[in-house]
Amino acid sequence: MVQLQVFFFPIMAHGHMIPILDMAKLFASRGVHSTIITTPLNAPAFAKGVQKSNDSGFQMSIKILKFPKVDGLPEDCENIDQIPSPAMLPLFLAATWMLKEQLEQLLQECHPNCLVADLFFPWATDSAARFNIPRLIFYGSSFFASCAEEQVRLHRPFKNLTNASDEFFVPNLPHKVKLFSSQIPPFLREERETEFAKMLTEAFESESRSYGTIVNSFYELEPNYADYYRNVLNRRAWHIGPLSLCNRSFEEKVQRGKQAAITEDECLTWLNSKSPNSVVYICFGSVGKFPSKQLHEIAMGLEASEQQFIWVVMKGTDDNEPEDWMPEEFEERMIGKGLIIRGWAPQVLILDHKAIGGFVTHCGWNSTLEGIAAGVPMVTWPLGAEQFYNEKLITDVLHIGVPVGAKEWGVMVGGGNIKRDAVETAVRGILVGEEAEDRRNRCKGLKEMAKKAIEQGGSSYSDLNALIQELSL
Ligand code: UDP
Repeated sequence: MVQLQVFFFPIMAHGHMIPILDMAKLFASRGVHSTIITTPLNAPAFAKGVQKSNDSGFQMSIKILKFPKVDGLPEDCENIDQIPSPAMLPLFLAATWMLKEQLEQLLQECHPNCLVADLFFPWATDSAARFNIPRLIFYGSSFFASCAEEQVRLHRPFKNLTNASDEFFVPNLPHKVKLFSSQIPPFLREERETEFAKMLTEAFESESRSYGTIVNSFYELEPNYADYYRNVLNRRAWHIGPLSLCNRSFEEKVQRGKQAAITEDECLTWLNSKSPNSVVYICFGSVGKFPSKQLHEIAMGLEASEQQFIWVVMKGTDDNEPEDWMPEEFEERMIGKGLIIRGWAPQVLILDHKAIGGFVTHCGWNSTLEGIAAGVPMVTWPLGAEQFYNEKLITDVLHIGVPVGAKEWGVMVGGGNIKRDAVETAVRGILVGEEAEDRRNRCKGLKEMAKKAIEQGGSSYSDLNALIQELSL
């Protein structure tokens, strides 16, 4: 039988590159030749994973497209985490859309059997069609968020609301899901046709023209919504997650994404000195940032909670930036109690450690699913994108989290108005008390389900098999 060749093309953002690398590795482990398509400065993030997979006898490779030069974008800015301000996101996305010609040249030369391309590349559907191959979409979020988002876009249930603080129910969902008007993007709320809004609309519309969608989730986590997505929204989908669970070795967990700002030894020595479920891990994903005032409130809230913590604080572009948010002598007082990682953390390694008893997360879907796969209850602190929907899944559907009370949708930056008391209450709430124990037990159940889903015969394992078989016909 001829070996199936699949191309995987993520947008240049770690929250998309990480799960797509995992996905490509998973396909390769089932006999597919997986090729990652990326740009020169993003290639190193894939290199070790690809090498390791090849060393294990699987077939993977990387193909490079040159990142277009665009007026207004800094030189060498090839990843969303490098754009100097969120206002430049539409420009960055527009630059990636200029990769179409190079992609098509590659498809012509290599004749893959299938193209898995990011949702943010809607044009890739036409590119695949030119070469008569199926284009699958990698969306990167939950079934739940897709269903809720679709209903909100379609019915605009917020349209008669006058204030951002007014609430509405997302219509037609199996659960009652209530949101504040301020928790959806302003361009949607105000029906403004911005460049970004147009790109998103095109992206969502390309779903119905594509072969189907690969979802990083597992059936047992959100069965109502996996069914709803397929049967009510009429989408073809394959759930194959949690993708993070394909990283089984210590080395793989450490090497995900960027170079960590802490050695694994230092991190593990610190965690090994703590008792089970006694540490809260705080991280807002690969791009989430806060103004100094908010970082200060987080620090004060953490200290007041009297809980131990590992806190990942994203560094700005300037290494010499003053840390004016840090309360006086905070680090000295927190010695042995709190560990601050300035930069990239080995997140999966940390979450999987038995000392971790809670996760303060921005509800990015990868982080959410990594928390679920590790069996860790969460404090939800969404910033933007589809994260406010993920929060509802965690708190109101799965009942495994406590909301901190974030209400402002933003682009990559938190609003900065969550007070220290809210941080303190939420952090204590997931670590201490009877309700915390109940939540932890529910998390344990989900962790077991996640593990089973990817094992031979499990729901995700079988769905991937079904997809590969279909593509092989
Ligand atoms: N991540 C990590 N270390 C960090 C920050 C992020 O390993 O210091 C990883 C995290 O494990 C997840 C991804 O980066 O796999 C972030 O994806 P998510 O969807 O949670 O958020 P995004 O960055 O897309 O907002």
